[in-house]
Amino acid sequence: MDVSNPSKFSIEFFPPRTQAGEAKLDTVHAELCKLNPDFFSVTYGAGGSTKAGTAQIVLRYHAAGSVCAPHLSFGGADEEEIRQLLQSYIDAGIRRLVALRGDMPSGVGASVQHHYANELVEFIRRETGDHFHIDVACYPEIHPESKSYASDVDFFKRKVDAGANSAITQYFYNPDAYFRFADYCGDAGITIPIVPGIMPIGNYANLARFSANCGAEIPRWLDKRLQGFGDDVESLRSFGIDVVSELCEDLLAGGAPGLHFYSMNLSQSVSQIWTNLDLGKRNQNELP
Ligand code: FAD
Repeated sequence: MDVSNPSKFSIEFFPPRTQAGEAKLDTVHAELCKLNPDFFSVTYGAGGSTKAGTAQIVLRYHAAGSVCAPHLSFGGADEEEIRQLLQSYIDAGIRRLVALRGDMPSGVGASVQHHYANELVEFIRRETGDHFHIDVACYPEIHPESKSYASDVDFFKRKVDAGANSAITQYFYNPDAYFRFADYCGDAGITIPIVPGIMPIGNYANLARFSANCGAEIPRWLDKRLQGFGDDVESLRSFGIDVVSELCEDLLAGGAPGLHFYSMNLSQSVSQIWTNLDLGKRNQNELP
C-alpha cells in the first residue's frame, strides 16, 4: 500500500464483546469484502473494555488479506503500553491508524489523564516516523466539548501539524455542514483530505440517542420522517438507504475525497448504499 495515497472508501467496525458477536462480524466482514473497500477500521474502547478486541480483530482480518486500520487512544495507558501496541502493529505489517483522544465511559473520565489526539499523533510520529498513515477525527458540526467553531478547527489543525495524513468526520446529514467546514478548514491552512463519515439509518431510537451524545444533528424534517415509521423497521431502513445514498451522491459531486461508513457491524445498508453509488467503479475510474 502506498501510505501517502489517502484511501477513498472505507468501512468501520467495532470489536464485538461476545463470541456470537464475533462470529456475526466474521459474516459481515466477508460480505463487505465483496465491495473491495480501501480499508476497514476497527474502533478502540479507550476505557479498556474492548482494547484487546481491537488488535485481535485487526490482526485477524489483516492476516486474512484485508487492509485494516486500528483506532487508537491513550485512554489511561502509559507510553510503554502504546509503544508496545504500535510495535505489534508494525510487526504485523499494519500501515494505517486512526488516532483519537477517545471517550471514556462515564465515571472513568475523571480518574485518568486525558491525552488529546494531537499528543497521540506527535507520540506516534516520534516513535514510528512515517511508518503509519494517520487518520484523525474532525467535526463538521463541531465537537460537543468545543468552546467555539474556530477553536475546534484550531485543535483539528494541531493534529494535522503533528503529522496526520487525512481526517474522517463525525457523521452528519446536512451536506452544507461538511462543505462549509471543509472550506473553513482550507482557509485555516488545513490541506489534508477530509473524508465524510457516513452513518446508515437503521434504528431510530439508537440513532437519536447516539446523535444527542456525539453532537451530530438529525435535521428536523428527517427526524420527523423517521419517527413516523414507528415499528416498521424495514420501511425505515429502506427510506434511510435512499436518504443516505443521496447524501453521499451530493458529497461526492461536491468534491468529497471519499466516504467512510460507520457499519455498526451490519452489512445490509452499507452494501446497498455502496451499490446505489456504484462505488466500486468510481473507486477505479473517477476520483483522482
Ligand atoms: P481531540 O481532537 O483531542 O479533541 C477533543 C476535544 O478537545 C475537542 O472539543 C477539541 O476541540 C478539544 N481539544 C483538542 N485538543 C485540545 C487541546 N490541546 N487543549 C484543549 N482542548 C483541546 N471514540 C472512541 O472511544 N473509540 C474510537 O475508536 C473512536 N473512533 C472515532 C472515529 C471517528 C472517525 C470519529 C469522528 C470519532 C471517533 N470516536 C471514537 C469518538 C471520539 O473519540 C470522540 O469524539 C472524542 O470525544 C474526541 O476525540 P478526538 O480524537 O476528536 O479528540
